[in-house]
Amino acid sequence: MTDFAFPPALQASVAIAGQPARFPVRRIFCVGRNYADHAREMGHNPDKEAPFFFCKPADAVVESGATIPYPPDTQNLHHEIELVVAIGMGGSAIPVASALSHVFGYGVGIDLTRRDLQAVAKAAGRPWDLAKGFDLSAPIAPLHRVSAGAQGVQGRIWLAVNGVEKQAADLAEMIWPVADVIAFLSRSVTLQPGDLIMTGTPAGVGPLVLGDRVTGGIAGLGEIALTIA
Ligand code: MN
Repeated sequence: MTDFAFPPALQASVAIAGQPARFPVRRIFCVGRNYADHAREMGHNPDKEAPFFFCKPADAVVESGATIPYPPDTQNLHHEIELVVAIGMGGSAIPVASALSHVFGYGVGIDLTRRDLQAVAKAAGRPWDLAKGFDLSAPIAPLHRVSAGAQGVQGRIWLAVNGVEKQAADLAEMIWPVADVIAFLSRSVTLQPGDLIMTGTPAGVGPLVLGDRVTGGIAGLGEIALTIA
């Protein structure tokens, strides 16, 4: 046993639908601009770009149903509904053809973003870390485990604020599908069991204010809900 100077932090984890065991979170990778309409709404040409990645701390995860305090250091907190891919089998330089065999399951997540800090970072050529990776910035609903040989997820992804739909798209609109995202990312880092990948958001991102009730979902993967307070 390693002798630590103080007790290490609790292992961050995400619920798994239909079973008591939890998914231990190792790292959270996020894809930028993976839907053409969202890339355009942020002022970019989606035809030109390979996928790029940023990270959130593992302990940014929050349960669906949580009440999240409006975060400090922002006046422009944004919602981004995203498909979350949970890695169950690690690997490096994973081929596209076998990439989905590395998936433990899928879930619904929200990439909460301090958009004003992100805009400053972009303008100054600085990292996005504190715009994206703040406390409680990764609400994730229970993961849905996939069976061996299963194909990827398909269908509608949506988010509503106070019952008014703000984001709606089909997962087929992703510029880089899940298998490609895993292949690209695993060329850059060795993926490990417990890694989560947030796969980007469709158009319709926008601000959240105190008291907002946020709901969202993905076909076959259930729904997520949170309140900003
Ligand atoms: Mn995002």
